[in-house]
Amino acid sequence: MTVEIEAVTRDFGTAATPALRGVSMTLRQGEFVALLGPSGSGKTTLLRILAGLDFPDAGRVLIGGRDVAQVPARARNVGVVFQNYALFRHLTVFENVAFGLRVRPRAKRPDNAEIARRVQELLALVQIPELESRYPEQISGGQRQRVALARALAIEPQLLLLDEPFGALDALVRKEVRRWVRGLHDRLGITSILVTHDQEEAMEMADRVAVMEEGRIVQFDAPHSLLDAPASAFVASFVGDANRLTGSVNGGRLGIEGLGAFDADGLPDGRTDVFVRPDEVRVVPPREGLTPGIVEWSRQADRGRWKILVAVSEHRLEGYAEQPIERGAPCAVELQAMTVFGAQGERVSLSGRLAANSAMPGV
Ligand code: ADP
Ligand code: MG
Repeated sequence: MTVEIEAVTRDFGTAATPALRGVSMTLRQGEFVALLGPSGSGKTTLLRILAGLDFPDAGRVLIGGRDVAQVPARARNVGVVFQNYALFRHLTVFENVAFGLRVRPRAKRPDNAEIARRVQELLALVQIPELESRYPEQISGGQRQRVALARALAIEPQLLLLDEPFGALDALVRKEVRRWVRGLHDRLGITSILVTHDQEEAMEMADRVAVMEEGRIVQFDAPHSLLDAPASAFVASFVGDANRLTGSVNGGRLGIEGLGAFDADGLPDGRTDVFVRPDEVRVVPPREGLTPGIVEWSRQADRGRWKILVAVSEHRLEGYAEQPIERGAPCAVELQAMTVFGAQGERVSLSGRLAANSAMPGV
């Protein structure tokens, strides 16, 4: 199912800015898209509009090429899973999954034998066939999430909407269920939209990620593009766990307090936002010509790699060392690349030359 969202606005009148301010995006058939943004950025509102649970003040939504303005929720053939869309406690797993079929108008309702066949098929699909006669309180959080998915899939949706569906799961189960849901999406060939404020989840699961800020989509791109070419300081700060610093440009030189000065051709004079990814910060034992720091915290990340938090003047920088360096010990940092947003929002990526130019004591 393709999904086209055209200039959708929604104002509840409760906040200074509308919940959605002219959102447009197009999803391809079979695509898995994440809506990523902080709390209050409009993600749930957009999902509810797609589900037919809320309506835009202006703009259009087309699902499978059809304008759904006049199509009620139950006729949209859309499966929805909400984080707090609790299962019916008084119904067994089987009846929870069967629910969407039993409430159909009589003419479209399958008979009992057909419902049983469909439910068993779905429970096999979500890999919990043995739980059909249990009640929700008799199964784990991960299993409940699978039941909620089976229930959403019972109506054979072409579009699956997931609103922070993994929040109630602990970290290990969450990882497993995430991969499994993505695999299920691929096997069924459906189109899915996942709402999340967790960048790792969005980057891991989605083909493309729409980053939302205050009711707008500020970037809609493949995960690697968000990392390599963030459209704004907001996007750079929201994805990729980069160290954020401030600097100022003066005559083509970027100065960062305590860290040095760098060539920054093409950036106008003024204040800048600077992002340095942890894997672009090399932490080494103290060395002449490199910026000195103190190790605040250290842990082994992989074999032969330590993640280190370094204090450099008033900054805290996360980086990596190829050898353990004790907490409290002196060290040195080498910045290998950085992304800089100039005073007018223009982005410049600096790399390679940084080490050679970074040794400017007193800048
Ligand atoms: P998100 O899911 O990204 O956290 P929401 O879409 O839930 O954000 O909310 C976006 C904005 O719209 C918020 O300011 C929120 O308070 C407001 N909002 C959402 N739903 C309603 C509603 N039913 N009535 C009034 N305001 C709402
Ligand atoms: Mg929400």
